[in-house]
Amino acid sequence: MRVLSVTSEIHPLIKTGGLADVAGALPLALGGMGVECRSIIPGYPLVMDKVGKAKPVESWPDLFGGAARLFSLQQSGLDLLVLDAPHLYARKGGPYADSSGKDWPDNWRRFAALARAAADVAAGKLAGWKPDLVHAHDWQAALTPAYLAYGPAAGVPSVMTVHNLAFQGQFPASIFPELSLAENAWSVDGVEYYGGVGYLKAGLQLASAITTVSPTYAQEIRSAEFGMGLDGLINARSVVVHGIVNGIDMDEWNPETDSRLAQIYNARKLAARKPNRKAMETRFQLESDASPIFCVISRLTWQKGMDVLAAAVDGIVASGARLVVLGSGDNALEGELLGAAARHRGRVGAIIGYDEGLSHLIQGGADAIVIPSRFEPCGLTQLYGLRYGCIPVVTRTGGLADTVIDANDAAVNAGVATGIQFSRLDVPGLLNAIHRTQSLFADRKTWSAMQKAAMKSDVSWGRSAARYHSLYSGLTGQ
Ligand code: ADP
Repeated sequence: MRVLSVTSEIHPLIKTGGLADVAGALPLALGGMGVECRSIIPGYPLVMDKVGKAKPVESWPDLFGGAARLFSLQQSGLDLLVLDAPHLYARKGGPYADSSGKDWPDNWRRFAALARAAADVAAGKLAGWKPDLVHAHDWQAALTPAYLAYGPAAGVPSVMTVHNLAFQGQFPASIFPELSLAENAWSVDGVEYYGGVGYLKAGLQLASAITTVSPTYAQEIRSAEFGMGLDGLINARSVVVHGIVNGIDMDEWNPETDSRLAQIYNARKLAARKPNRKAMETRFQLESDASPIFCVISRLTWQKGMDVLAAAVDGIVASGARLVVLGSGDNALEGELLGAAARHRGRVGAIIGYDEGLSHLIQGGADAIVIPSRFEPCGLTQLYGLRYGCIPVVTRTGGLADTVIDANDAAVNAGVATGIQFSRLDVPGLLNAIHRTQSLFADRKTWSAMQKAAMKSDVSWGRSAARYHSLYSGLTGQ
């Protein structure tokens, strides 16, 4: 079976969040099941650096305002199709925004081009390789099902995966004529959404199947509270909506081999986590003592509940615990957390920025990872936490609810508890969860049993990749 994955990020080439991890790991897991997956990605400068002197395998004289070429590239076991369109992607800054954080004004064109190129490949533009199915990820790829439905590849089935419904790709109606879609695409059954063009809306409307990244989130987005305006559409298509929890790359995230750790370890040698803890204390200039270290590795945003965390820092310190934060995002939250670190020198450390290596060290050294999200489609940091014995403390929502087993008495007694869940997201609610965690931590036997159970959790792609595979099989008849 041949599958074309359409994505705006892919680990290890370009990443701003969990989408990259999934887009990078799922093709590898599916490869082991006989799926030949190629991923089409934009040729951002970091990606083009890898292309080197390769020859293009296809070209477009004019793709949304300039010439474009497609390069085929093997990288980290991935089979990539890189869309080189300098007028759209050759610029400094991030994949979606300039260095000051302002969205690129032509994002609609940049990602329409990606979708258009993907649909052309599905229609057979690439000599010798035509996919049986197209898998589009998030709004940046979500016009692909529209280009399929209204173009020559209408028969090719598609899967639309929502990694986060909060990002929808909403643009004014005036762009519609420039998308070169059939006129009848301008309808509520097509790309039209509240008088504008909705990229994610189009993908959800026109894909053969919809998936989201956890069963609980698949249910939650059917409600007005979580549906972000798309709950009506999702309910109308509920028979084709599937919730499939993400896995993680078990080689990349393996405490037994991780070169980013000061000391490797496994569930039988938990004491070997100590040097990681020490290295982390040094890096964050923390006092060294026996109190638990809570960590946060996150985008610093409202979705992630970081405003509540910032407001709870004094209470966390008062409880005797220490806290380290690695993250970037809202300027105001960055400032608040840096302020908290300055106020509580030695008890709180904050590093603002994105540091993949440090994120591994923290998971290998901290005692618990706090993830107080308001909503969380799947979440990956709790999965890394489980794998590294860094106990997740999470809100009971989305994928967090699906992947962490709360340490209630029954679960603790049965030896299956892997974390702490809480429902009330405000300062008292979060502090209550912190205090619960501290009581569990104080009981060394219970705590190490939890760490062992966490490290035994199946967070691999195995089962989930099999679910994607069976979804693909149903849609392609293969
Ligand atoms: P989201 O995609 O919503 O940001 P996820 O939990 O699904 O959240 O994925 C976040 C990914 O980004 C994880 O791999 C996490 O380790 C990583 N990450 C987030 N912030 C940072 C940071 N400041 N430095 C390093 N890695 C980070």
